[in-house]
Amino acid sequence: MRVRPTLRWTPTDDLPPATTDLAPVVDALRAGGVLVLSGAGISTESGIPDYRGEGGSLSRHTPMTFQEFVGGAAARRRYWARSHLGWRTFGRALPNAGHRAVAAFARHGLVSGVITQNVDGLHQAAGSEGVVELHGSLDRVVCLSCGRTSPRRDLAERLEAANPGFSPVAAGINPDGDADLTDEQVVGFRVVPCAVCGGVLKPDVVYFGETVPPQRVELCRRMVRESTSLLVLGSSLTVMSGLRFVRLAAESGKPVLIVNRDATRGDRHALTRVGLPLGAALTTVAERLDVTVEDPAAA
Ligand SMILES: [Zn+2]
Repeated sequence: MRVRPTLRWTPTDDLPPATTDLAPVVDALRAGGVLVLSGAGISTESGIPDYRGEGGSLSRHTPMTFQEFVGGAAARRRYWARSHLGWRTFGRALPNAGHRAVAAFARHGLVSGVITQNVDGLHQAAGSEGVVELHGSLDRVVCLSCGRTSPRRDLAERLEAANPGFSPVAAGINPDGDADLTDEQVVGFRVVPCAVCGGVLKPDVVYFGETVPPQRVELCRRMVRESTSLLVLGSSLTVMSGLRFVRLAAESGKPVLIVNRDATRGDRHALTRVGLPLGAALTTVAERLDVTVEDPAAA
């Protein structure tokens, strides 16, 4: 039997303190071969709230588990109604200075790869290539019967057509694209099945309570082994799916550097944790490296 995954982590007193000194991050990037591991914290400046930290959405929202999703039609209706509404917000989100800096570091050959725990596609939107989406992507939908994947955009159109006039006001939006709606607001929402086989559709993301596909984990482990150092951006590393790569890097003697406002579960493995906001911190790092960060909004 699966247990409900740990969604919360409480910092202990013995963790090393945060710093505002970006020099180790600059030095690591200058040396090259930096593997980036990013989390929800890099997307908060794009208007997608974090689960954790101050006002984190976990305080009012527990993400649906895979077991709940496959467990019943009512749970899936609730999921798709909320997710359909949330998708509109995600569709409007734009990459921020943090995403653009990461893409610029890669263009300058300083970064060996990007692994993200985010499902929002914003690294790619900023121009990063070959991003490994550890927890999948909200951009795709997978059929649980025939295994076919299809674009989320197509499903969104079918859901629009099946639910004309569905536009409840959400209390909030979460990093998994789930809008906060009450049970009353989702009554009557019509879910559509797989267009090919009539099976149950699920977003192609790793739910809480689901494991990351083993071949994806192995790919990430290889990326860690082939890197020079690991740079964690905006993750509390609460879930094991990301923390294990921090441990692997540390065990392999590779420096781990973390930029995250709050304490993380990986701090004891890290050379340093910089407690600065990501957009500003990475912009400063780029300046010190003489790396130009393109800002399409300023063009
Ligand atoms: Zn199917």
